Amino acid sequence: MSKIDRQKIMDVLDGYDKEDITIATLGSHSSLHMFHGAKAEGFRTAVVCEKGREIPYKRFNVADEYIMVDKFSDIVNEEVQQELIDMNSIVFPHGSFVAYAGLDNIETIFNVPMFGNRDILRWEAERDLERKLMTESGIRIPKKINKPSDIKGTVMVKFPGARGGRGYFVANSTEEYDEKIDAMMARNWIEEEDIKAAHIEEYVLGCNYCIHYFFSSLKDEVELMGIDSRYESTIDGLVRVPAKDQLDIGADPSYVITGNHPVVMRESLLPQVFDIGDKITETAKGLIPPGFNGPFCMQTLVNDDLEVVVFEMSARSDGGTNTFMNGSSYSYLYYGEPLSMGRRMAMEIKNGIAEDRLEEIIT
Ligand code: ADP
Repeated sequence: MSKIDRQKIMDVLDGYDKEDITIATLGSHSSLHMFHGAKAEGFRTAVVCEKGREIPYKRFNVADEYIMVDKFSDIVNEEVQQELIDMNSIVFPHGSFVAYAGLDNIETIFNVPMFGNRDILRWEAERDLERKLMTESGIRIPKKINKPSDIKGTVMVKFPGARGGRGYFVANSTEEYDEKIDAMMARNWIEEEDIKAAHIEEYVLGCNYCIHYFFSSLKDEVELMGIDSRYESTIDGLVRVPAKDQLDIGADPSYVITGNHPVVMRESLLPQVFDIGDKITETAKGLIPPGFNGPFCMQTLVNDDLEVVVFEMSARSDGGTNTFMNGSSYSYLYYGEPLSMGRRMAMEIKNGIAEDRLEEIIT
């Protein structure tokens, strides 16, 4: 199926009453602060919600309209799209929206105007594209090891698709790599195909910082909105087990995200943080026009050489934005009041309307 013609979406947007815009998204992931922020900026809000999942939106009272669906993926159904368009909706994408709507559908059949860049979402999902964007930006990423026989030092081995790090493993030599692959094959955890597609990279020993940026196309500037760190099962539980017992229980670490905590970085690291944001947004403009537009996140590890090493990105609002629903130390510095990512997004829409530049930030 072919990609949606941009003109088609601009025609939908043209038909909207700009005085009466609704901010809509799927009720999941990071939608609470999107709704709350949109209401704070004077917009009506609409949640597309799977039956049985509406409680948080009701209890926190953040949604004006409820579009109840049997399953989240119904957001791409024609009737749901029409309902959204009838409300003059602009959709705020987030991780669950992308997962349930589906990348292909967002690119080919989802006609509701979105804030962001719908073309950049694929660059987060496909490892080769993500790597291309990061490499061309010149930011520090884990070094790639081309073949198992080249392993020197500690490496992390990853398999295709986001699996919450399930089955990822660490090895220190070619022999150890072979042993672990054989063990995984024996357990039917991986197949021949997976081995061919295995990605081997430098293991970065360091602390985790997920940096939430906002790129304002209207201002042509990157803002640092907040930083979180991940709370992952089982790895964070495993480190609470004394080392001698870790071996006994024989648990294989996984990295399934269960929560986030807010963090700040050493102030001396912030020049690197802005440098990464500036470089990646500049490169994205050329590779995937219009580039980043709104929220995105760089997942990093900081080693003891104080290098900020980016191992993954989110090309839309990342779940870690939930750590600063009432603002972060950084977002406070810009606006002198608590500011969530959702509210910053709503501000951009408001400014786009006021400056008559909404088309520049909608795809
Ligand atoms: P997924 O996309 O499947 O969730 P990630 O690429 O985010 O997997 O990796 C899962 C976890 O593995 C990360 O949260 C991080 O803690 C760890 N990790 C990933 N890459 C590296 C690396 N190069 N060095 C050390 N740890 C890493």
